[in-house]
Amino acid sequence: MYEIYVGIDDTDSPEGMCTTYITCVIIDELKYCGFKVEGHPRLIRLNPFARFKTRGNGATSFKMVLDSINQIEKAKKIILKKVEELSCLENENTNPGVVFYQGAVNQKLESFALKAIRSIITIKEAKSLAEEIGADFYCFKKGRGIIGALSAIGCPLNDITYELLSYRQSKNYCSKRRINPQSVKVMDQKTYPQTFDNLDGGYMAIEPHTPCPILYGIRGESPEAVLEAHNLVEIDEPLDRYCIFKTNQHTDIHLQKIKKISEMEKFGCYIASGEVEDMPWNIEGGHVFFKLKDDSGSIQCAAYEPTKDFRKLIKKLRPGDHITAYGGIGSQGTLNLEKIQIKSLAPEYIEKNPLCDCGKRMKSAGCGKGYKCPRCGKKIRSELKLRNEIARDLKTGFYEVPPSARRHLSKPLIRMNIKI
Ligand code: ATP
Repeated sequence: MYEIYVGIDDTDSPEGMCTTYITCVIIDELKYCGFKVEGHPRLIRLNPFARFKTRGNGATSFKMVLDSINQIEKAKKIILKKVEELSCLENENTNPGVVFYQGAVNQKLESFALKAIRSIITIKEAKSLAEEIGADFYCFKKGRGIIGALSAIGCPLNDITYELLSYRQSKNYCSKRRINPQSVKVMDQKTYPQTFDNLDGGYMAIEPHTPCPILYGIRGESPEAVLEAHNLVEIDEPLDRYCIFKTNQHTDIHLQKIKKISEMEKFGCYIASGEVEDMPWNIEGGHVFFKLKDDSGSIQCAAYEPTKDFRKLIKKLRPGDHITAYGGIGSQGTLNLEKIQIKSLAPEYIEKNPLCDCGKRMKSAGCGKGYKCPRCGKKIRSELKLRNEIARDLKTGFYEVPPSARRHLSKPLIRMNIKI
């Protein structure tokens, strides 16, 4: 008996195709030809800031159990032929990689996968790992995909979610997706929270908005839950096929807990605690920023426009609030927030001019000249203002971006058993 892991990545382009679809086609073909594919294939999301990603930086893998060496060679041929046939090779940035690995998933592979999720890796590093562990790898063009292919095989999955991806017939790729929104509502009502991120208000979060082969993707806690949900969705176009993937999505596996803000680096994702340094501010386009500090330094945090109402919450933060921020640092060196925990709120004050003995609010008598009562004319020399504490329109607790703005790897509060 031969157990072989197959990893695939970097097959698609912004114009179309999808590595999950190619994987699904390959698995169906292998099964049709009598090969045994064990369990669910994996869909592993990698660093959301990797430079050459097409969309969600996903790579796939699956395990075959074969009877003979002869079978291995036949299966490899089928897989490589399909990757070559279906990949968008004409696109400059599509550089597929396929890895075949016979053996146990060891520490080296696991660490490599975690590095691909949390930082940046070179093709050279991927090739040298493949050579070191004796994996067989195939590079189409530059073969950058072997980074993701190795990672999809090696990623440790302690927390697991599932995604059922349904695929359209190719003749419909460029047309509007025909999914009955009412049926998605019913599906959500019946299966949430065993499935999640199906809807965002009236917006169908299961539906992609790219010309890829996916009709919809349903995310959930078990294969049974996503299948039940799939059976409740009504569509008005024929399906090509569907596949349930085991994933690291929505597990926060990308986040590294750090003790000091100064430890943060570009393209890394973190959980960092600190104090709000200044008043949040807006910039054109509706993006909201504030600075988070600790003894080691400070970092600019952002709630971008797509995070919608989450920005309103961020605007209510005040200097001195203690929070834990969850997010990743993009090319601008800003922490893109995925969620926050407000741990304590600083008191907020409003300042007013003093009241005159006659009961009227006094007015400034000019710079450095104290106050003067506009009614009785009384003057005082003091420049001091009255400080009144006002109630904060904010509560401690966890807050997250809406499903439509959620990163694939970001763990929703519902999965953290936190009531929303
Ligand atoms: P889709 O999700 O639509 O399938 P994608 O967003 O996954 O597309 P790919 O086409 O797979 O994008 O391209 C991502 C490329 O980046 C792959 O070649 C992958 O090997 C590589 N890559 C992934 N993570 C890293 C990383 N941490 N460092 C360097 N390269 C990476």
